[in-house]
Formats: sequence, structure tokens, C-alpha cells
Amino acid sequence: MNGGRPARVLVAEDDTEISGPLVRALQREGYEVALVSDGPTALAGGMSGTADLLVLDLGLPGMDGLDVCRALRARGSALPVLVLTARTGTGDLVVGLDAGADDYVAKPFRLPELLARVRVQLRRAGTGPQDVVAVGSLVLDDRSRRVTVDGDEVVLTPKEYELLRLLVQHVGEVVTREVIMREVWHTEWLGATKTLDMHVSTLRRKLGDAGAMITTLRGVGLRLERREV
Ligand code: CA
Repeated sequence: MNGGRPARVLVAEDDTEISGPLVRALQREGYEVALVSDGPTALAGGMSGTADLLVLDLGLPGMDGLDVCRALRARGSALPVLVLTARTGTGDLVVGLDAGADDYVAKPFRLPELLARVRVQLRRAGTGPQDVVAVGSLVLDDRSRRVTVDGDEVVLTPKEYELLRLLVQHVGEVVTREVIMREVWHTEWLGATKTLDMHVSTLRRKLGDAGAMITTLRGVGLRLERREV
């Protein structure tokens, strides 16, 4: 839900069993993701000025993650660095932070935790998605997951909230049923669109007058309009 381009995340991880799910999860969050799998390439990517955040594994071939981090800082880069580490000793973490890392996540990590830390780093850097978005009388506050219409709170279920957030992120654009099923229900199975229809109708009702901003394009998807009908 940022007005400009999506935030760009550079992932430096040589273990494909970790990088695969991680890259997909970051892409689902709407980030542009580049993956590198060795230290020197991570350093070059970090110095290129094209990334907003580096997610950096410490055990990388060619050049240790800590050395990548030190080299970035030594060359004047202020790129936020989130370290992934299997080294969970306090001493290792202190060394990581001393090397110029901004935060760390211990492996094995849970994806939601990692994504939360990514958001924090991007927000700090001012490149994260806006936390509070207003569309007409509708205000969606992603920090508190609260939705208000004309200042009155609307209580939504998690799925209703996710659906509305997705529409708000793409205000004025068609969001296809395929995208909705994938992003909100994490399924490619379009047989489940009856569930979607039910959620849309409940969401509309809960939003009251603002619900009329949600337009159904039959057989295609949904669009949130800026104007209230
Ligand atoms: Ca590794």
C-alpha cells in the first residue's frame, strides 16, 4: 500500500531450502526480491544502491556474512541489514551487531517473525508500506489492524481484514479472483470462490455505506473505488 514502487529486498542465502520459501513469502508481501547465494555477490548487490534491505545469512561461501556486513559499513553503506544466523550464542549476536547489522533472526525462524522484522527495518528506513491508508471514509491502520468508517471501528474477521487490505493496496485496480485466492486464502483452487463471495458480501455489509466502494466484476474479481457510490 505504498504510493511508489515496492520495497526491494536482497536476500543472501546459499541454502535453497531456506531461500526458496523465504523469497516466495517476501514476494507474497509485495516486495521485489533478488536472491544471491555467495558473499562477494551479496556485497556487490548491497553496494549497488538498488536494494532497500539486505537479508543476510552469516554462513555464506566466498565471504562470511559478517565480513559482508563490515565491508558494507566500511564503504559507507547505510543499507539496513537483517542477519539470519544459526549461531545463537550471545557473543555471536553481539559480534553481528558490532559488524553493523541492524537486527537478526535466529535459524530456524518462523516466516511470520522474519516478515515482521523485515517490515520494521523497511519502516525505519522509510521505504516500507504506509501503515495507515485512507480511501474515502474508510481508514485501514495496519499497525493495529483496525478499520474505521467515518471514525467508527468496524470489527472484521482475519480473512475479511486481509481481503480488504489487499483491495486497499490496489485501490482503483482490478484484483483478480486468482490473486485474492492466492494472497488471502493461500490456495490456487478457484472452487473456493464461493467462500470469497460470502466474505465479500459480509465485508460490504459491515462497511455500511463504504461497502459500496467494492465493485464486483463478475467472473473476474474485485475493485475498490475511491469514490463512494
Ligand atoms: Ca549458509
